[in-house]
Amino acid sequence: MYDAAIIGAGPAGTSAAIHLALRGRRVLLAEAKSFPRAKLCGEFITPECFTHFRQLGVETAMMNAGGTHVTETNFFAASGAQVSVPSVWFGSEGTQSFALGLSRAEMDTRLLARAREVGVEVREETQAVNLLYENRFVRGVILRGKDKREAAAHARVTVDATGRGRVLVRRLEAINATQESTMPDAETTRNPHRNPSSSRSRAGLVAFKTHLVVGHDGRENDDEQYGEQCEIYFYKGGYGGLNGVEGGVRNLCFIVRAEDVKARDGNAARVMREVVCGNRRARQVLDKAEVVAPWLCVALESFGRNKIAPAPGLLAVGDAAAFIDPFTGSGMLMALDGGATLARTLSLWLEREDARNDANIESWRRLAFDYEASYEAKFAGRLRVCAWLRRAAFAPAPVIEVATRMLGVSASARRITARATRKE
Ligand SMILES: Cc1cc2nc3c(=O)[nH]c(=O)nc-3n(C[C@H](O)[C@H](O)[C@H](O)COP(=O)(O)OP(=O)(O)OC[C@H]3O[C@@H](n4cnc5c(N)ncnc54)[C@H](O)[C@@H]3O)c2cc1C
Repeated sequence: MYDAAIIGAGPAGTSAAIHLALRGRRVLLAEAKSFPRAKLCGEFITPECFTHFRQLGVETAMMNAGGTHVTETNFFAASGAQVSVPSVWFGSEGTQSFALGLSRAEMDTRLLARAREVGVEVREETQAVNLLYENRFVRGVILRGKDKREAAAHARVTVDATGRGRVLVRRLEAINATQESTMPDAETTRNPHRNPSSSRSRAGLVAFKTHLVVGHDGRENDDEQYGEQCEIYFYKGGYGGLNGVEGGVRNLCFIVRAEDVKARDGNAARVMREVVCGNRRARQVLDKAEVVAPWLCVALESFGRNKIAPAPGLLAVGDAAAFIDPFTGSGMLMALDGGATLARTLSLWLEREDARNDANIESWRRLAFDYEASYEAKFAGRLRVCAWLRRAAFAPAPVIEVATRMLGVSASARRITARATRKE
């Protein structure tokens, strides 16, 4: 029996696993993919993440991975009007003055290696396909390995760290819906774990990402400049970001409306040329860009918060708990921080006498309450601010134009806005 079975080895899952193992807990970490693997992400790691890397014991490994030091982010309205935000504003006292541009293939692989090093039982190419669920308690998961064989993994607590897919929580919802549909009052009790505050209104969005080599746009020392800057482009129906990662390439990641993708037969390069390049600055920079990696693409179903303790024995962390808009560049921070928060709360609970009886619902409620309280205290403020900024990011072009120009004249307004996205 594991103390924790963590499903998904993104930053949230590995952070939780490493912190739990460092506290002497027996941890299983199951990941569907084989690492290193590419991952759709802006690959912009803000300075606050470095404190987490230090605590996890991977700071040196991350800093030596060949990533780019990004000192500034420039936001470009469609017309080319721009405001800039130094990376140092995202950090707290004592953190570095740069953000790190590093591919998720590199970052996640380093975290996974560290998990193995501290004694986590890591299983790659192992997918969680179902929950072990009895009397409304989750007791672990059914895992399917590379050889397609299925095996049960029993755990005192199971953690859904599967990202936006929320694979385990959705499985639970499906089981509950089936069970409740046989009850007379099913209409009123169906899906009790669904959180109405989660916003599903943006289901018509699609995200793309690739790596590319950017040509020159006529200025001197272009390569050097792009290496140090992150650029965010706003255009009709979305926005995108470009920043340097390791190996002299840039990561381009953008969000567009599903209808714009459909109108271009799902062709990513066309979407980049015809939609993203509706932004003047993007056109200038991407015009001669050479795509050097396969395009990745995902539909973005929803933003916002979900239940983080949806059933006795099951907790959610990272994007599975809440998907914060990528625009704020704080998803990985929340994943790393959320993993640490979960590990701290869970470790304290596992030490309790009453937690030893795995059918003790009162004891479980205490854990759920403590986790929700810590999560709320840490993340509620920034989730609110970011939900507001998300609406602003998708505002009509003239509104973005005016906002960009207004923020452009006040450094303190820009600083306050940047800091608010980190508000606890
Ligand atoms: C377009 C876009 C751009 C972004 N840009 C940035 C950025 O620049 N900076 C930033 O900080 N954040 C960014 N984010 C957010 C960031 O990518 C996420 O917040 C972060 O990856 C969340 O980490 P996680 O560990 O919760 O989930 P993930 O990183 O999604 O990891 C989940 C893992 O679970 C595994 N998995 C899934 N299902 C199963 C299963 N059934 N069994 C086993 N394993 C499974 C997956 O293979 C995956 O490895 C961006 C997000 C998007 C969509």
